[in-house]
Amino acid sequence: MIDTHAHLYSEEFDADRDDTVKRAVEKGVSHIIIPSTSKDDFDAMMKLCNDYAEICFPAVGLHPTSVKDGYVDELAFVEKQLDSNRFVAVGEIGIDCYWSTDYIVQQRDAFEKQVKLAERHNLPVIIHARNSFDEIFSILDRIHNSNVRGVFHGFSGTREDYLKIREYGTFKTGIGGVITFKNSKLPQVMDIIPVTDIVLETDAPYLTPHPYRGQRNESSRIPIIAQKIAELKNISVEEVDQITSENAKTLFHLSPLLPSQQGRRLDTM
Ligand SMILES: [Zn+2]
Repeated sequence: MIDTHAHLYSEEFDADRDDTVKRAVEKGVSHIIIPSTSKDDFDAMMKLCNDYAEICFPAVGLHPTSVKDGYVDELAFVEKQLDSNRFVAVGEIGIDCYWSTDYIVQQRDAFEKQVKLAERHNLPVIIHARNSFDEIFSILDRIHNSNVRGVFHGFSGTREDYLKIREYGTFKTGIGGVITFKNSKLPQVMDIIPVTDIVLETDAPYLTPHPYRGQRNESSRIPIIAQKIAELKNISVEEVDQITSENAKTLFHLSPLLPSQQGRRLDTM
């Protein structure tokens, strides 16, 4: 199984990062995509991906809630990194109108510029959309083409949101712990989202699935999400694993591994 979104570099894992990765591997997680959110967490993200180069794969981007007055410098940093290192995606990027709209103009600009950066580097984008689907759609409507691909991470939108995403034809939906929440409306949307359009994610340390809600989330909880999708789709967990893993590998070009990726091997963990 593949966790396409986890912030395992965050300080919540400082005490047991090794064990966290190990637990995920023991639960059958083969790849974890690790998006950074700004210059502040970039080094920690890269260290993690170097330490576990066979499991953790880096993405670089400026998160919408980190878009502030200095965002132009932050974008230059993202661009410089894309020119000098290998990443599986540009992310996470997007627009967030939930926490604040003070920097909405800058958020729009940062999102558009990073989508174009991804296109230039032939990389997918990892999109964070919170109370902002219309904002994101209006930018994508203007600049989308067949080279712009990616994932709407932590998807918890409406049927209309999903149908709009499907129209672009180049995006997957990232399904995480929200699908297991008792008050979630997401299960009612799942009948129109085929498994071929889904990648799994935890968004660790956030959005822990039921019945562990309230605790720290981690990549070893991916099977709980796969299980819920299997129930809703009335197929086996193995099928969910196989299809979503294939989706993730294709979207993020996860295999074959480059020989240059030399980190700690699984058998030494
Ligand atoms: Zn995230």
